[in-house]
Amino acid sequence: MKRVYNFSAGPSMLPLQVLEKAQEEVVNYRNSGMSVMELSHRSGLFTDIITEAEKLLRELMAIPEGYKVLFIQGGASQQFATVPMNLLGKNGKADYVNTGSWSKKAIKEAKKFGTIRVIASSEDDNFTYIPAVDRSMIDPEADYVHITTNNTIEGTAYLEIPDTGDVPLVADMSSNILSEEIDVSKFGLIYAGAQKNIGPAGLTVVIIREDLIGRAPENCPAMLDYKTHSESGSLYNTPPTYGIYMAKLVFEWLKSLGGIKEMEKINRKKAQILYHALEESSIFKSPVRKDSRSLMNIPFVSDSTELDAAFVKEAQSKGLETLKGHRSVGGMRASIYNAMPIEGVQALVTFMNDFETNYE
Ligand code: PMP
Repeated sequence: MKRVYNFSAGPSMLPLQVLEKAQEEVVNYRNSGMSVMELSHRSGLFTDIITEAEKLLRELMAIPEGYKVLFIQGGASQQFATVPMNLLGKNGKADYVNTGSWSKKAIKEAKKFGTIRVIASSEDDNFTYIPAVDRSMIDPEADYVHITTNNTIEGTAYLEIPDTGDVPLVADMSSNILSEEIDVSKFGLIYAGAQKNIGPAGLTVVIIREDLIGRAPENCPAMLDYKTHSESGSLYNTPPTYGIYMAKLVFEWLKSLGGIKEMEKINRKKAQILYHALEESSIFKSPVRKDSRSLMNIPFVSDSTELDAAFVKEAQSKGLETLKGHRSVGGMRASIYNAMPIEGVQALVTFMNDFETNYE
């Protein structure tokens, strides 16, 4: 069966080489006579997998000493609660930036645990831009500042990471982790659901500065306390073993391409091709302000819902899958994560041009 170009926002495309490697090893992993899915999480073979996965992630992201990497479950959504449960210990207050649906969910959840202030928001203009955040806006007594670095639904991203001074910066990086170089030392905590740039759904990656571990209250459930996972090397309970194995394969693939630096170049090129096509288009346009555009999720709209529906349907018949926009934005959305090859973006642009010619 032919593979398609899948523009889904997540779960999304995985590199073909990774899937083929997994296929090759699925029944009998390294002569164990078992699949990775069947290996004990305490076995030597699995210990090697999780150790290597962490080592590769540290290398790819240049994670400095003094940070722990956790491979856990619950998705980014569970982090919306886990972050405040763990970090509001000192002053019971935090500052959040509201840049879209996922930020709103994070804010709503955090409010259950302390005093949450929204210091900047782009809700006034349908979240089509990233609001300015500077140090003067931040409460120096806040336990942390929370941002969503890439807004999967709205298609916006920070071009620059805000400077929060001594207040730890916490970031939901679910939809742009590993897509461009970032300076991890600017963050107190980074979290991401795996199902976009890391691997299959079911795995959540947390990168946390060590001084932020151990701040959870006494009554914090063990599974929600970063300390539990940090002290046990993510093996307190059964971690998502197959997801971690797949993540390791994705990290190896990324490294073989030249790491994040090279990946970022390709991602910039892919996004530029698509944004350029939208600038040129007489039918479609990007609703996002130029200074806030995501490299990963690119929504676009026409002024007719019928035309949008026809586009999505015809695109599908050409092997361009899952282009329907999120219900809150409408139109289309092309998610072009790391695993989307440049040929996929070129095929989409060619199809857009043909579509325009036919509908003019
Ligand atoms: N944050 C962002 C930016 C997301 O894109 C998503 C999922 N698409 C989530 C949080 C929620 O992630 P999960 O489904 O892993 O809980």
